[in-house]
Amino acid sequence: MKIHGLQKMTLLDFPGKVACTVFLGGCDMRCPFCHNAELIDGTAPAVMEEEELLAFLKKRTGLLEGVAITGGEPLLRDDTITLMERIRELGYPVKLDTNGTHPERLRKIIDGGLVSYVAMDIKNSPERYAETCGLREMDLAPVRESVSLLMEGRTDYEFRTTTMDELHDAESFRKIGEWIRGAKRYYLQKFTDRDTVPFEGFHAPAEDEMQQYLAIARKYVPEAEIRG
Ligand code: SF4
Repeated sequence: MKIHGLQKMTLLDFPGKVACTVFLGGCDMRCPFCHNAELIDGTAPAVMEEEELLAFLKKRTGLLEGVAITGGEPLLRDDTITLMERIRELGYPVKLDTNGTHPERLRKIIDGGLVSYVAMDIKNSPERYAETCGLREMDLAPVRESVSLLMEGRTDYEFRTTTMDELHDAESFRKIGEWIRGAKRYYLQKFTDRDTVPFEGFHAPAEDEMQQYLAIARKYVPEAEIRG
């Protein structure tokens, strides 16, 4: 399996752990605010093969406490599950970032004890989901299934929303709140612009708007927080 990026150490990507972050190419969404746009069509060059990654992880035993897998969308393909099995065999807990479009694979890794923490994006209210993902239309059923699966609580998890003036308003957070009511954790993340974001013109909400959105979210998820 091709590995499209490796951050050798991070204190931010895996809650409570010194981890490395593995980037996998390809995604089934086209979010116009994506920070990893060069990865989403799968054409970015690989930086290493799977064996090289595993050799790196073997060497870092005792130094790293976990492996965060991100993308792109890591659950786009079955061989991510094999990669996770191999990382678990080395003794590392795995954290996964996902957009929730592949609940069957998410179920498989939870059932198999392959993942310790899942961070799933909730892009927007159901009404504005496709638009926020950069898609003309989309079937939200798989995303809904992933939400329900995580809320069963068989693995630790968080939901998170990257928040922009152009795509979110108070109604977005009322609708999201109704959807994920009672979730364990929910983070509102302020959009930050970068050169790699494919579309220009997005803006982070002002601080008072973020606080307003947080207050709405907390009516449904008391553990909601602003991150970043
Ligand atoms: S789901 Fe994530 S990786 Fe895929 S396009 Fe959206 S932000 Fe980028």
